[in-house]
Amino acid sequence: MARVPAALYAERTLASYPFRMVQRKSRDLQTAAESAARAIESAAALVVTAGAGMGVDSGLPDYRGNQGLWRAYPRLQHLGLSFEAMATPAWFERNPRMAWAFYGHRRQLYRETEPHRGHALLLEWGRAMPHGYFVFTSNVDGHFERAGFSADRVAECHGNIHRNQCSVPCHDAVWPDAGEDLDIDPGKLEARGPLPTCPHCGAIARPNVLMFNDWNWIGDVTAAQMARYEAWLEELRIAQARVAIVELGAGTRLPTIRYESQRLATELDGTLVRINLREPEAPGGAVELALPALGALERIDAVLAPGFKRRCRDA
Ligand SMILES: [Zn+2]
Repeated sequence: MARVPAALYAERTLASYPFRMVQRKSRDLQTAAESAARAIESAAALVVTAGAGMGVDSGLPDYRGNQGLWRAYPRLQHLGLSFEAMATPAWFERNPRMAWAFYGHRRQLYRETEPHRGHALLLEWGRAMPHGYFVFTSNVDGHFERAGFSADRVAECHGNIHRNQCSVPCHDAVWPDAGEDLDIDPGKLEARGPLPTCPHCGAIARPNVLMFNDWNWIGDVTAAQMARYEAWLEELRIAQARVAIVELGAGTRLPTIRYESQRLATELDGTLVRINLREPEAPGGAVELALPALGALERIDAVLAPGFKRRCRDA
């Protein structure tokens, strides 16, 4: 028998290795999607916990690390400003035209971008549950409401960019942005023309989102949402309802959403389904899906039992 030269043998082994890995990954994903589907079908309530990764499938930029941010706003690279350094209320004092260019541009982007089919799938599943659904999100884009989720079933822990407040603030009022499109030069990161002002004192207005080093955020709307959310969770505890927690695109850098998902899985009779392309690792008992949000949700939907899909249609 002719002996295979060692070098050639090594090459063949290496060539077959990635294929086996790909095969295994695909099998693992299928198993995980099926586990997630079983958790959702057998749940009496759905909690959706969502971070920035949820918006990526709608075409929204990912500001992970400075590169994503600087691609979107080259002026910030020139100034050497990170997301954390730019996303502070101090800029509304120091350079309101730049602050409004940054937030106004993002507000326009969120307004012009449509929620994706993943939002529709989650809503369909949630409506089929005896106890319904709740959304807990750090996203300020307002996309869950735009996708048809009931406003009283959404808790936005970082606020909502489509509302304004006074930057001083002289008053606790928040008001919806008038939909006025600011004249923004994204290249220079400068808003031209009149900027939004407070109707009470005339000071510059700012979006009602929680920023870094932000002592002036008016959190009343979020507090009311959180009270409704906690009351609903209490209802689930009393009913001993089984809960499916579907977490989407929530990273470890700002772990608020991940902690919330884990808290729920521990405190309630809950199964956590963690969908995260880069950081899917979750504590024991959780289902991990290393996929983008939309791809994972479609994959789960494809293996849901016909009986549950019928409930979704009838809900
Ligand atoms: Zn004011």
